[in-house]
Amino acid sequence: MDERLEDRLRRVWLAEQRLLSLHLDLLYRCNLDCCHCYLDDKRTDEMDTSEVVSVLTAARTLGALKLTLSGGELFLRPDILDILHHARRLNYYVKLKTHGGTVTEPLADSLKSIGIGRVDVSVYALDNDIHDAITRRKGSLVRTLRGIERLKSRGIDVRVNCVVMEPNREVYKELYYEMTRRQIPCSLDGSVRGTNSLSLDSYALGLSAEHKKDFEAFRRTAAGGRPKPLSMDPDDHICWAGKTSLHIQPDGTVTPCVAWPMSLGNVRNTPLEQIWTDSPMLAAIRGARRKNRTGCTSCTFESKCVYCPGKAYVENQGDWLSPFQLQCTDTATRVYGTLRAAASWVRPNHTTGLFKTRSGQPAQMPQRPQSSGILSPQRLQRHGRSQQGSPRKRLFSILSPDQAAYAKAEQIAQTVRESQRK
Ligand code: SF4
Ligand code: SF4
Repeated sequence: MDERLEDRLRRVWLAEQRLLSLHLDLLYRCNLDCCHCYLDDKRTDEMDTSEVVSVLTAARTLGALKLTLSGGELFLRPDILDILHHARRLNYYVKLKTHGGTVTEPLADSLKSIGIGRVDVSVYALDNDIHDAITRRKGSLVRTLRGIERLKSRGIDVRVNCVVMEPNREVYKELYYEMTRRQIPCSLDGSVRGTNSLSLDSYALGLSAEHKKDFEAFRRTAAGGRPKPLSMDPDDHICWAGKTSLHIQPDGTVTPCVAWPMSLGNVRNTPLEQIWTDSPMLAAIRGARRKNRTGCTSCTFESKCVYCPGKAYVENQGDWLSPFQLQCTDTATRVYGTLRAAASWVRPNHTTGLFKTRSGQPAQMPQRPQSSGILSPQRLQRHGRSQQGSPRKRLFSILSPDQAAYAKAEQIAQTVRESQRK
């Protein structure tokens, strides 16, 4: 589904308190064993076909148009095609999440004929040793890339998702460039979250603060396009979880989001409609605003923080309205990354040299469209600024005003420019 359309729909659905987007995990089982997997509460009591069908029908009645199906590995379910047919009969836009290694030629044909909207495939590296070490299954990268080719050859919209961690930090840029070359959108996620059982052991795999800075700067330049303002309104909802979207685990447990393993009830003993309208937890979530978070109001980066209550719930062992280490580190490095990217943008000939390939050579940066740049002559003129304005002014024009944060960020940006000059 087009992201801008989805965003517009969300606002209308929010006003009418309707569900727009359902994420349904269909099974716990997987034939890989990824080291960072959040599904550590693997159980066997998965909903059967008829239970899944009634959930899809109930969610559609509540207004849902977008359906994300994942697992576990989706295609290990023998009834997956029946479920997909049913979802399409209900007119859902269907997105699948898979490791891709189970996609055979006939399955790719079926997905095409059913009319699947998009398939997201997890890839961690183009290096067999690194990818297979993360999935803990030998030969998994070869099978995954074969699956991607099968989907692509049918004209199915395929995206690659890569969680960037310490084990693949040396190679994710190569993956990004290669996928871009093949015209496959590649999304990078630099944060490893805790698990459904509220374990934080997987944090050990996450990028160190120093590597995260480099990652964020890369994402903002190569992968993220032009730097964007990060401002947030304190009266805004924290996120869409529980407002226009819901998640359901394989055993029927309803939670606000896949990243937020807080039970709101179970569709096996309470109808989804009843959970949606009567859950006291959902009422609390819908009532919460950014300004209601405790311990964040004095934070320098409060207005830049894309706070995730789900990850807070896991790290704070139940408290979803307070600061948590993963978020604070992510926010600080994201602001830093934006500034570092912006600092590189104001250079006349963009060759940052900041990003190196594995062999130590500067990475090839994808071409940016000249006319849409935030620092384009047209844009600067519209804002009544001279093209000759100082880099500092240009840099600040990209961001919304927050003096305390910028004073700190300016220091960082200055350091970046100085290091680039050396
Ligand atoms: S911010 Fe966190 S809880 Fe909210 S929708 Fe995003 S991932 Fe889910
Ligand atoms: S960075 Fe941390 S302290 Fe600051 S607003 Fe975000 S969660 Fe709160």
